[in-house]
Amino acid sequence: MGIIGTAKEMLRASTESADRGDGAAERSKGAYWCHDCDERIRDVEVAGDDAPTCPECGDEMEFERSPSSTGCAC
Ligand SMILES: [Zn+2]
Repeated sequence: MGIIGTAKEMLRASTESADRGDGAAERSKGAYWCHDCDERIRDVEVAGDDAPTCPECGDEMEFERSPSSTGCAC
């Protein structure tokens, strides 16, 4: 019984971690920045392709590619 319980917990833990971290990180091409306010919004958190406006000052935010994603265009 103990083994089954442990296996179940491991399964649940691995599903959660895959859900939470790596998946979103791989899809993210970068982030939007407002340099004046130091505000950052990841592109995966923005709906659509338009740049969001800064929640602090209302200016359009600037897109910045994350260094890890510039190597591959596919
Ligand atoms: Zn701002």
